Amino acid sequence: MIYHSTSNHSVTATISEAILHGYAPDGGQYLPEKIPTLPRAFMRNLSGMTLQEVSYAIANYALQGDIDAQVLHDVVNETLNFPIPLIDMGEGRHVLELFHGPSMSFKDIGARFMARLLAHYYASKGGREINVLIATSGHSGGAIANGFYGIEGINVYILYPQDQLSSLQRAQFATLGKNITAIEVNGTLGDCKNMVYEAFNDPDLSKRMLLTSAKSVNIARLLPQMFYYFWAYGQLQKLHGTTPEMVVAAPCGNLGNLTAGVMARQMGLPIKRLIAADNKNDVFTTYLRTGKFVPRATEPSLAIAMDCGNPRNFPRLQRLLGDHAAMCQIMEGFAYSDERIISTIASTWHREQYLLNPHSATAYQALLDGLRPGETGVALATSHPAKAQLTVESAIGATVDTPEALMRFFNGFGHITTINSGYTSLKKFLLSR
Ligand SMILES: *Cc1c(COP(=O)(O)O)cnc(C)c1O
Repeated sequence: MIYHSTSNHSVTATISEAILHGYAPDGGQYLPEKIPTLPRAFMRNLSGMTLQEVSYAIANYALQGDIDAQVLHDVVNETLNFPIPLIDMGEGRHVLELFHGPSMSFKDIGARFMARLLAHYYASKGGREINVLIATSGHSGGAIANGFYGIEGINVYILYPQDQLSSLQRAQFATLGKNITAIEVNGTLGDCKNMVYEAFNDPDLSKRMLLTSAKSVNIARLLPQMFYYFWAYGQLQKLHGTTPEMVVAAPCGNLGNLTAGVMARQMGLPIKRLIAADNKNDVFTTYLRTGKFVPRATEPSLAIAMDCGNPRNFPRLQRLLGDHAAMCQIMEGFAYSDERIISTIASTWHREQYLLNPHSATAYQALLDGLRPGETGVALATSHPAKAQLTVESAIGATVDTPEALMRFFNGFGHITTINSGYTSLKKFLLSR
């Protein structure tokens, strides 16, 4: 299969090139030339399959033989070795808990899949080391560090702004060591992002080291996010017998989740509609409402991993769906203030005894607001409530325990390098390794 850049159709890559470089050289994002449609009978079998079986089947079909079947089988099995429960909330509503991996965020799925696939590339490409570089405000750092931890041949560099992360967020990537290097930047998140951006656009650096992005612009992170849409549908069938179409609400940041949902739909999964949930950074839901896409500066919110003023996967959605009118046929959107996020966490706890994380709360509220009578809906719960302990505790007026899986990060020592803001110091550091 050939992969095309969203910026220029004539810029193409193979799947390995797309994965090893992340962005296309023209700054666009790769999409497959066509999305293969699964036979209808496949959808009927989903309820009898395990998560790993569903995932392998989707990966194999989507990649059309571009990656060796045995390799893919191993990658999928090592990635999806934690449960993804579907919780029945009544009245057609469900919550899909995507947060039972090592960093307790749905990003674990994409990060682990990409890490294991890159490990295979390293082994098969004569042992040239691969370097993964990201800037994080918290969530992606933990998932990527844990996904890549201990993988031979891959070095991970995580830039983060000084004094801006909670100690738990930082501990999730800074206490691991080995191939994971935490780089504290004497500057803001914007500075960190600019430094990473410059690194990717420095031809001299890319001559000296193989550098790739582990953000959701990388097709290797997007692909595995389709798995759980199919899994959710199978679980709905198992719960309710019949096979209705489903409506899925996703909490949006860079729109990776939503893009994966659109791709799953184009592969034939009966998704009736997708509901986009934004926090106060409502660039995408404003686009759905007005037809105008106007990126702007990011504002901090309680659902921090969704703080995104220029959603990176937007060009992919456009390429997959076409113009604004076409997008609105299968999508609607809602945006929520911090106050609303708190009140949703509180009311869901008091009414339904279910505890939501602030990110998941936007999706659940969007399902409450957007699901019509008779429809079956699934809200994607992207992060464990204890990852936003203070917010959740103040919302419900009770204490929330930190699970052992998160506590263990506090037992390690920090492996942190501090550098000054600015690309020169980053380049110097990377080349000194
Ligand atoms: C990254 C993230 C999101 C946003 O997902 P996108 O795929 O970037 O739209 C939502 N919730 C959590 C917890 C996240 O970490």
